[in-house]
Amino acid sequence: FDSVAILTSGGDSPGMNPAIRALTRAAFNSGISHVYGINRGYSGLINNDIQKMTSRSVTNIVQRGGTVLKSARCLEFKEPNVRQDAAKILRDRGIEALFVIGGDGSMTGAHLFTEETGIPVIGLPGTIDNDIPGSDDTIGFDTAVNTALEAIDKIRDTAQSHERLFLVEVMGRNSGFIATQVGIACGAEMVVVPEYDFDLRELCLTLAQRRATGQGSSGIIVVAEGKDPGLTNRIAYQLEEQGQNPRICILGHIQRGGSPSGHDRMLASCLGASAVSYLLAGYNDIMVGVNQGSIVDIPLRRVITETKSLNRHLFDITTLLHK
Ligand code: ADP
Repeated sequence: FDSVAILTSGGDSPGMNPAIRALTRAAFNSGISHVYGINRGYSGLINNDIQKMTSRSVTNIVQRGGTVLKSARCLEFKEPNVRQDAAKILRDRGIEALFVIGGDGSMTGAHLFTEETGIPVIGLPGTIDNDIPGSDDTIGFDTAVNTALEAIDKIRDTAQSHERLFLVEVMGRNSGFIATQVGIACGAEMVVVPEYDFDLRELCLTLAQRRATGQGSSGIIVVAEGKDPGLTNRIAYQLEEQGQNPRICILGHIQRGGSPSGHDRMLASCLGASAVSYLLAGYNDIMVGVNQGSIVDIPLRRVITETKSLNRHLFDITTLLHK
């Protein structure tokens, strides 16, 4: 391979920049002569918004959140003829392979693209949600968990001072990975995730008992955003009916931003370097990921057809640790 390109796609995540840096530097240092950065994900690819990268163009980004290549959603890329046009744009520039950093939607686009056009693609899991099958970890998850924890530690001060219950909604799309880790690590009284039913009546009973025994009614309930956007409000409403006076805090997009944690910088750097090695070793149509601490390759077909389930033992810990 003499010429490769990189894009970031879907929701941004802290650590995409160290991944771009690692891919660029590892490519040059492995003898690849040309590295291109594609702006705004698949949207930049189909619009030929592509720039040449140098080893120096990725200087001083290892610590920065977001993505210097920008990210976007691009519905047109779901059309097979648009993907053929995109392949022509790469071929016309002599670009022989593509690295895609993004979530499961981006991996779906990546798989279809390589399958239909024959241009080799290697994916890197970049999402705060940690919901990508085949990899135990994703670039940005650790930072998002830490950002949420920092915020919740502050909220807890007010919860304690005012003896108040807070419902804190965290991100995670349809999965409860962020909520579970955040819930355990912030000492939440309860964690609500889309994967498992929760018993609101039991929660109300516990809270009533605590009040009756003089333990106060302060506390944190972590709620994963889930498929149902009104869930947090509904829980609050039902708690009000039970005589509680809960407050809602939706952490929102602060979880997607910020300087990547040491863990995410390491993950992004190691995955980026490995992705280049896999490409040069002849691999294609794969995502690099982590399995029990080791970097592995996962066929993109597996990534996009399987679902990643929340570890039940881990989730059960959330219920084992309250007073
Ligand atoms: P994420 O990658 O974070 O899951 P999205 O689901 O929005 O984010 O996907 C990002 C982009 O990947 C989409 O805007 C689109 O360009 C591409 N993509 C998603 N699903 C498909 C699909 N089924 N076919 C082709 N491209 C897709």
